[in-house]
Amino acid sequence: MKTLFSQLPAIDSLLREPAMQALRVQYGHQQTTDTLRALQQEAREQILAQQQLPAWCSDWPQAAAARLQRQQSTALKPVLNLTGTVLHTNLGRALLCEEAVAAVTQVMRSAVTLEYALEEGERGHRDRALAELLCQLTGAEDACIVNNNAAAVLLMLAALAPGKEVVVSRGELVEIGGAFRIPDVMKQAGCTLTEVGTTNRTHLKDYRQALTENTALLMKVHTSNYQIAGFTCSVAESELATLGEECGVPVIVDLGSGSLIDLSQYGLPAEPMPQQLIADGVSLVSFSGDKLLGGPQAGIIVGKKALIARLQQHPLKRALRVDKMTLAALEATLQRYLQPETLAVQLPTLRLLTRTPHSIAEQAGRLLPVLRQACGAHFLVEIAPCLSQIGSGSLPVDRLPSFALTLTPHDGSGSRLQQLAADWRKREVPVTGRLSAGKLWLDLRCLEDEELFIRMISL
Ligand SMILES: *Cc1c(COP(=O)(O)O)cnc(C)c1O
Repeated sequence: MKTLFSQLPAIDSLLREPAMQALRVQYGHQQTTDTLRALQQEAREQILAQQQLPAWCSDWPQAAAARLQRQQSTALKPVLNLTGTVLHTNLGRALLCEEAVAAVTQVMRSAVTLEYALEEGERGHRDRALAELLCQLTGAEDACIVNNNAAAVLLMLAALAPGKEVVVSRGELVEIGGAFRIPDVMKQAGCTLTEVGTTNRTHLKDYRQALTENTALLMKVHTSNYQIAGFTCSVAESELATLGEECGVPVIVDLGSGSLIDLSQYGLPAEPMPQQLIADGVSLVSFSGDKLLGGPQAGIIVGKKALIARLQQHPLKRALRVDKMTLAALEATLQRYLQPETLAVQLPTLRLLTRTPHSIAEQAGRLLPVLRQACGAHFLVEIAPCLSQIGSGSLPVDRLPSFALTLTPHDGSGSRLQQLAADWRKREVPVTGRLSAGKLWLDLRCLEDEELFIRMISL
């Protein structure tokens, strides 16, 4: 063992090797030295454990280069999303349109008019330009942009109802996931939740009877991720808005996803539209930027000018405000909506959601022989119909017909399947599918870059 230890080169002499000199130039002296020390320690441990030198000891510069390169690679890796969920929260939700990508790149490189009004040559407001666009698109009086929709809900409650009562239907006390629960958010905002109605039925009179002089808001939450079926009754936003108007209590709506266009025109499940709620007389509506809107993570609040002003003035707004990159991406995304004819082509989220089963099946036909070539030895590769999900709190029952390539191990071995999935997760661009019923499913709905897919599975 002693002789094995003596075969480990000294760090100093390693650093003098020409190949190491090149790494020092590329990665810096400190990082290169630290990496060599770490490798040497690993070699020592392996000698102790296995009485042999690790194989990589034959080429220290190469081992160091590989390690240094790995350290440089970022943790946020592009992946091929073949899970069948279009707005996958764990995979970063919406893909942004090219105009948004360009806009973000531009503002990253340059000083920008973030809070600067060019015409007056004085300080402006960072939400101003977007507010105008949002008013145009929704018919609202004003708008406020924050970090995400959870922040939007928190800000509305904290700014408009601290120490006061907020009336919500028992059927709408939702949990979104990631510990976002309406009763908890109320508590954080310092509001008292007044629950009305029952799980399945809430009537207008329930809201009316719950009003006290301490009521600050009437609130509706879009029950996006579940459905109560059967003997049900809920109060329409327009009716609640009329009651709010009568009693002088603002009505706010947490819409969750929300869509600025009527999705049913594409044969997709209809989602409530913020502009409809504004027309119905709702005081404030909040929705996400990176769900069906197809933009960056953001929370958008549109509605009455006086209420938006109170949100803008609240100290929490400062903590929840978005940066120039988000504003640039959101503005470029919203501008697409001024030209709705081209949306289904230009907005990746809508483009993927509106792909026809026919075109996905054709793609599956093209890729089948390639996948058979790559995996046919151990797996039966087939095309199978499947159902994609919109994702991000859209109704789980609203599924989109799609097609998948499926892999079934010839020997029925679950571990072989797990191994393949794990192997694909390690690729330069990981391929993520879905394991179900003894098969690996690759739903092709979100696959646009076929060449990349072929490269990743053919390694
Ligand atoms: C998704 C959702 C939220 C949270 O929105 P984020 O943008 O993810 O913070 C809140 N309320 C509802 C109803 C939602 O669907």
